Amino acid sequence: MKLISLLLLCTMAPTAWGWSNHTVGSYLALQDLPALRDASPVEVEPLERFLSDQYPAIVVLLDEQERFAREHFKQYPPRPDNLKLPAVPSDNLRHDFLTALRINPQIHLAMVIQPLPGKDLPEREHLQADQVMVEQTLSPWNRQRFIRVADHEKVAPLAVLASAADEPDYGHDINLFSDNPGDVAALYGFGPQPFGDARFQYSSQAPFHMGFFHESPVVYAAAGFLERSWPDWRAYQYMGLARLAFASGHSYWGYRFLGWGLHHVQDLTQPYHAKPLPGVELPSLLLLEGKALAGFAEGKQASIERVATATWKSRNTSRPGCVACCAPVSRIRCSMLTPMPPGTRITRRTPWTTCVKW
Ligand SMILES: [Zn+2]
Repeated sequence: MKLISLLLLCTMAPTAWGWSNHTVGSYLALQDLPALRDASPVEVEPLERFLSDQYPAIVVLLDEQERFAREHFKQYPPRPDNLKLPAVPSDNLRHDFLTALRINPQIHLAMVIQPLPGKDLPEREHLQADQVMVEQTLSPWNRQRFIRVADHEKVAPLAVLASAADEPDYGHDINLFSDNPGDVAALYGFGPQPFGDARFQYSSQAPFHMGFFHESPVVYAAAGFLERSWPDWRAYQYMGLARLAFASGHSYWGYRFLGWGLHHVQDLTQPYHAKPLPGVELPSLLLLEGKALAGFAEGKQASIERVATATWKSRNTSRPGCVACCAPVSRIRCSMLTPMPPGTRITRRTPWTTCVKW
């Protein structure tokens, strides 16, 4: 039980639920790819246009995905049959689609792109954070710029993709578990929230954005809830939709769904989303716990604080207000890409911390 409580504490570190802006790292990592650099602009269209145009194909795809998920994803909670898309489309396509995917039907799906830091277009209309994100996600992400794009407007694929890579943190996975507040909690079949801390409003998204896939069997035996997370399933859902959207000529939604899937893959490249206690091997974990049981809890407390601090740093280094570097950009590539402003230096404190403003 004590091992469980240690793991729980670590996965509940207040800053562990997201690591801020995925868009910046996506722009930097993808901007030189010829397939994106040379791609023609895509035409913005509302989700409903894609859904009504491709409805029968989407019904087939989601059914196939459900069959595959039941067979291949560990601890997958089957989708209740009443959430399946109806054979004949209703007059509330968006709601039916979002509930069939089992994501939060209150998300705004705003038509926006994020600019790279320093490349904002002040003459364009901007949306406020609360027009883009659901309430619970506002506090960590409310410093970003959102440029509104219009129906039929032509936009660069990279801007759509990089902007969409941040979007699953805007509320897609908030309050989906049976013990969460809200209308869908009792309907989605995910069961009680396996980990997370109710003190933090956006913590309920954690099991869709974190995955502990490479732990010792001892850890899973002691803390089985660590296996109840599905970021890989989310990526699978969105990648399938992206394929369908591209194949049917809805490239805007192709890039947007691709960005959603990319988000979950990027999350798993973050050690603080992929390990309950990064850098602590099982024997050390057990030793820490043994010492704590014997009354010497300093080491355990220090480990917890180290995780929380490192997570905080990893998030804050990717903020636009700081140095433009994050997720898929290695430390070396970061230093090549980023002109280092005065007062900034590269640090080697953690595998993930790249540039920190001092
Ligand atoms: Zn995330």
